[in-house]
Amino acid sequence: MKKNVIVFLGLPASGKGTQSALIVDNFGYKSIATGNILREEVKKGSELGKKVAAIIDGGNLVSDELIFEILKKNLEDTNCKGFILDGFPRTLKQAEMLSKYLDENDGLELQKVFYIKLKSEIVFDRICNRISCKNCGATYNTSSNKTKVEGVCDKCGSTELIDRKDDLDTDAIKNRINIFESNIKDIVSFYEKKSLIFSIDGLKNIDTISHEIIGALNGN
Ligand code: AMP
Repeated sequence: MKKNVIVFLGLPASGKGTQSALIVDNFGYKSIATGNILREEVKKGSELGKKVAAIIDGGNLVSDELIFEILKKNLEDTNCKGFILDGFPRTLKQAEMLSKYLDENDGLELQKVFYIKLKSEIVFDRICNRISCKNCGATYNTSSNKTKVEGVCDKCGSTELIDRKDDLDTDAIKNRINIFESNIKDIVSFYEKKSLIFSIDGLKNIDTISHEIIGALNGN
């Protein structure tokens, strides 16, 4: 049986990570969050981490080739029912590389591309209020998506909730937003031609959005 691949598109802090986590819990899919994978490498101080640290801090994109190698390695995991791509593709070239790879790989199929739409002014505030768990990478928002117990991660119980370095630098945030906006139209029209896009109003609350996503995945 083929494994489904789901893509989440959206500005930083639009809710991709939160919705991915819900699908992981409901469908047994594995989330491949390319940003988390890179940050993990930076934390470990690996060669890859050293190469990408300054790029991430500045809010720039790492090369399409490098990120695609990382993605491919993660898509080889056999212990899951499907995959969620959170933060990939970020360029048209990445979308094309993924498409070619899936065409050549009988075991995987792109099921849906969810585009969580939000205005950049709104994500700017969200990014400034975002905290993430240093241990498991779960993300929260100090105003709209708080942890159940203050200062404690809902997922793993860690008390190390931190700001991401690239969430503290206003220029890096603006850069991330600008890069997203200059690439998203091409990516969306690429997937529109394949009839895979499902657009979501990112202003709706978390439960409503996850209902819409689960409904779309169940074919409702
Ligand atoms: P994120 O956690 O998704 O906001 O990603 C954090 C950072 O990782 C981005 O600002 C980029 O520097 C890098 N990154 C993550 N995913 C990609 C990707 N698909 N292509 C290029 N760079 C990426």
